Amino acid sequence: MAQQSTETDWVSRFADEVIAEAERRAPGKVTSGASAPEVVVASGLSPSGPIHLGNLREVMTPHLVADEIRRRGIPCTHILSWDDYDRFRKVPAGIDPSWEEHIGKPLTAVPAPPGSAYPNWAEHFKAAMEEALAELGIEYRGISQTAQYTSGAYREQILHAMRHRKEIDAVLDRYRTKDKATGKPKKQQQKPVDEAELEAAEGSGAASEDDGSAGGAGYFPYKPYCTACNKDFTKVIGYDDATTELTYECVACAHSETVALSEFDHGKLVWKVDWPMRWAYEGVVFEPSGVDHSSPGSSFVVGGQIVREVFGAEQPIGPMYAFVGISGMAKMSSSKGGVPTPGDALKIMEAPLLRWLYARRKPNQSFKIAFDQEIQRLYDEWDKLAAKVADGTAQPADAAAYARAVGTAAGELPRTPRPLPYRTLASVVDITAGHDEQTLRILSELDPEKPVTSLDETRPRLDKAEHWITTQVPADQRTVVRAEPDAELLASLDEQSRGALRLLLDGLDDHWSLDGLTTLVYGVPKIQAGLSPEAKPTPELKVAQRAFFALLYNLLVGRDTGPRLPTLLLAVGADRVRTLLGG
Ligand SMILES: [Zn+2]
Repeated sequence: MAQQSTETDWVSRFADEVIAEAERRAPGKVTSGASAPEVVVASGLSPSGPIHLGNLREVMTPHLVADEIRRRGIPCTHILSWDDYDRFRKVPAGIDPSWEEHIGKPLTAVPAPPGSAYPNWAEHFKAAMEEALAELGIEYRGISQTAQYTSGAYREQILHAMRHRKEIDAVLDRYRTKDKATGKPKKQQQKPVDEAELEAAEGSGAASEDDGSAGGAGYFPYKPYCTACNKDFTKVIGYDDATTELTYECVACAHSETVALSEFDHGKLVWKVDWPMRWAYEGVVFEPSGVDHSSPGSSFVVGGQIVREVFGAEQPIGPMYAFVGISGMAKMSSSKGGVPTPGDALKIMEAPLLRWLYARRKPNQSFKIAFDQEIQRLYDEWDKLAAKVADGTAQPADAAAYARAVGTAAGELPRTPRPLPYRTLASVVDITAGHDEQTLRILSELDPEKPVTSLDETRPRLDKAEHWITTQVPADQRTVVRAEPDAELLASLDEQSRGALRLLLDGLDDHWSLDGLTTLVYGVPKIQAGLSPEAKPTPELKVAQRAFFALLYNLLVGRDTGPRLPTLLLAVGADRVRTLLGG
């Protein structure tokens, strides 16, 4: 199969690079068709708590590249490593503090949070992520590291690492910040921030080192989980290469034993050896990592040397991806101690929109995901892009990002059949408080030429907008239509304002659609100024329009602002508009 490079966007460029690297590793095989080995890209997630929306980039980046490779007809596997055999490090905010007793156990050996339907901690937090990934159309092969380690899948790799522990130790020593002989800080080496934070968070227990350097009887890259207490506060105190007999003692419960590592499946390689071992084991060609993994001495840099020097394999192409922030939700969720997850984002936005946010930005560009009013502008931009793509006027890179957002090599993602503007839907459900019959009545009047006949046409976008209004918009920003006319305000109006209201009320019947009412509300001040309804607004006219709009908002919803007026008028309904405007 011919390799096509479209070079339109960052995804294409990485796909080119990954295919070229796979070809270099297996010359002539990757692009030749049926017998080709799969190109492997990888992500890793630790289900140590709710998986933050920011971590979605760890999966989206290889997903988009894998998807582009598949679109070119080349088989590609995206493996997602669930780092569920990692130790339970700390109890997240909002969880019963008594879970502290499980610190040091594998995540799959910690009980799930109270009330969970899942058998353990890792499964509980994995499940929510898996659901979101399915909705996002992300195909991957999930690999449980608990299953791998406890089944002995890595036995040869573990014994190999133990045999080569001196070489591993030498690589790690190039980056160690403390001199092994003296225990004093080495000079001229900056401690990477992630490690410093890790140590500050955990103290200096034997288990705090992720390179296994804290052992007393020399260096060992393997750490057993104690068979008595199931925690990793263990110290390897002896190893015999010939028999593979390993002796450890547990700092937590004082248990000590000697096991044959050739049969023992109750421990794991330390992280800085575990990661490169898996690159070699899976033949990973592409695996990005967060900025915190890319500093000197970090696991990606050290791993590159270990994979070559110890495992005789190659480091994947590993771009560093920048931080993804959230706007709007942090304040609202912090009271509950929660963090926004991809599932939270998918409750307020459709999957293609969320995919688009990642597809259109290069991995090294940071961006924010909007939970606040910004989401309405974002949706406007998305709809504009869809229109440009439809009429063929989108720029190539924009069109590529759009195509990656709305579907994958496997097909199109579900979409809303009638994608009405998100801000209109949000305004309507704001006013109707989610009352279906009323919502349908209003939506059917938006465009009388082509009326909405069923709410299902507008779903799931309608449901996302409704969820956004009810969960993300503070009560004081919600719209409440007046129950009774503001008699005092109506009685105080001057001749000019009364005239404007009269013109509006007289025009309602002939303009009862979104477009019609838009013409009407902007036209009333023009007519009053003796201009034609099509006249270009002058600065004076804009002042008059603003004053008129503020009057309407006050009479309808008792505030100076609100949803766009044409939408608001349709939502309130002609009869009630007449009552509230004194008609
Ligand atoms: Zn123990």
